[in-house]
Amino acid sequence: MNKVIILGSTGSIGCNAIEVIKGLKDHRIVGLAAYGNYRRLGAQAAQLKPLIVTLVTEKHRGALRKDVGRAKLYCGEDGIEEMIDRLNADTIICAMSSSIGIRGVMRAIEKKMKICLATKEILVNFGSLVMKKARRMRAQIIPIDSEHSAIYQCLEGKNRADVLNIILTASGGPFFKRSLENVKKKDVLNHPVWKMGRKITVDSATMMNKGLEVIEAYHLFDFPVHMIKVVVHPQAICHSIVQFKDGTALAQLSTPDMRLPIQYALTAPNRLRSAVPYLDIARAGRLTFVQPDFRKFRCLSLAYKALEMGRTMPAVLNTANEEAVKLFLNDKIKFLQIPGIIEKVISKHQPRDGNLECYLQATAWAKERVRSLVC
Ligand code: MG
Repeated sequence: MNKVIILGSTGSIGCNAIEVIKGLKDHRIVGLAAYGNYRRLGAQAAQLKPLIVTLVTEKHRGALRKDVGRAKLYCGEDGIEEMIDRLNADTIICAMSSSIGIRGVMRAIEKKMKICLATKEILVNFGSLVMKKARRMRAQIIPIDSEHSAIYQCLEGKNRADVLNIILTASGGPFFKRSLENVKKKDVLNHPVWKMGRKITVDSATMMNKGLEVIEAYHLFDFPVHMIKVVVHPQAICHSIVQFKDGTALAQLSTPDMRLPIQYALTAPNRLRSAVPYLDIARAGRLTFVQPDFRKFRCLSLAYKALEMGRTMPAVLNTANEEAVKLFLNDKIKFLQIPGIIEKVISKHQPRDGNLECYLQATAWAKERVRSLVC
């Protein structure tokens, strides 16, 4: 039996992960953690009966108590590490939004658990630290992000030296074909293909999501920046491509549904039946691929720039973006102001290298900087 912990069980990936695991006979959920959605966490605990439940925000501890039954209830960010220590699980799914789960992921690596990683911020902010530790501990990190899952699958069994480049596909978001002038919040939140949380939906509209994925791919697959490319593919049927030196390109295609990369991360290299409808390739229609417009989607250029500068710069880019998106969602700034704010913040940052604290300090600095720019 494969014992699984889910960090971020109440979000969109977390809920899908629970559905996937229900369909896998040899996997069992032993631990659940969520940031603040105690109602959904309580319902999940009552249904799944894990051994430990962790709520990061202490406030609703009392309300959650009755739902968790015999399970132990932990609180706070420390609760996540304590849960990991106690459970001796085999696998952890990290799907907590932002980088709240970083200490938990580090702990899980130390325990040589299999890490199924959905939270791209963990690698964007702390990629070199996480990957260094994972290599040292020989802990496996398997991506859940659909593009990275595709690349992971295309690279399986291949010789790294034969790779020419990796090409991340991007849906292009809702503004691929229309102007960014006078964009309204409801247009931004209306993604043409994927149903996702609000933050990532805004990131898809600015294409920062793809920029963060370039950084994520850089750490996961360890190829130089110039080998990581982006192509716009609005149908989101081809999830990414790896091109080899002999001229062959391998791609992974499927119905766009996050349950597939979640299941593959859990069962790789085995492929079990899933609840995802098979792709009917003859009915998928025309698949198109075009170059992204780097001038229109400035966030994508900024992400490449931050990655080139390296060290703490991607963490600063990501945090500035998180804060700018929050301000946009709270109607404090306009959609088109997002890249300008990020650019101002990164231009003021001196990238450094160091331990986790050094990276956390850089993110705290970036947060403060955005607030001083806008408020
Ligand atoms: Mg993705």
